[in-house]
Amino acid sequence: MNIHEHQAKDILKEFGAPVSNGIVIFSDNEIRDKISKLKDKEYVLKAQIHAGGRGKAGGVKLIKNLSDLEIEAKKMMGKILTTHQTGPQGKEVKRLYIEEASEISEEFYLSCLVDRETSTLAFISSTEGGMDIEKVALDTPEKIITNKIEIKDDGPNKDEIDKIISIFKFDADQKKTASSLIKSLYEIIMKKDASLIEINPLIINKSGKLICLDAKMNF
Ligand code: GDP
Ligand code: MG
Repeated sequence: MNIHEHQAKDILKEFGAPVSNGIVIFSDNEIRDKISKLKDKEYVLKAQIHAGGRGKAGGVKLIKNLSDLEIEAKKMMGKILTTHQTGPQGKEVKRLYIEEASEISEEFYLSCLVDRETSTLAFISSTEGGMDIEKVALDTPEKIITNKIEIKDDGPNKDEIDKIISIFKFDADQKKTASSLIKSLYEIIMKKDASLIEINPLIINKSGKLICLDAKMNF
């Protein structure tokens, strides 16, 4: 089973991971009622479809003000979005997610997937965030590391976490957040029985804070 980005982010939030505030709408006339839940003046409008590659296909838009948000939401809702992951027939946009926009300083990739046969979890980390990881693996494999850890009661230990984040140049605070994020991913896999969690991109914003900007979860 596949869930939407906003649902994956709700789960991440529930497990203490850093995500931006957002609202989900099923019709563009819900914006006026719900927008006061967000404190920012700039937003990201994101089509919620079961496929990635939305950014390049016009399914992720940075918006500067409320009136533009309403205009763009009207355009995006109901549209057939075709990305490299939807197939040529595309997918209809039936819901939108509106987030407080982040100012991006760096984009990374972090995912975690279960190998049930060997009872291990593979964490994949890459400095090439926001890209298709298969393409990064082909073109610049040196920019990806994979770390397999045993599934055990107390989760990943410090040594394992250090290896998973070794490819990133994080300061002490960022290491702390990343370490807690990795523990959260582990817990989500165990408690929600997820088979894959992919954060792409995981960003550092202009204030140096780590944020999960996009999330995919399979069960
Ligand atoms: P995907 O294309 O379906 O994977 O959708 P993403 O959620 O990953 O968004 C695509 C790209 O849009 C990201 O890699 C970012 O570069 C950009 N993006 C998404 N959210 C924000 C944001 O809050 N601020 C800025 N500046 N860019 C964003
Ligand atoms: Mg993405």
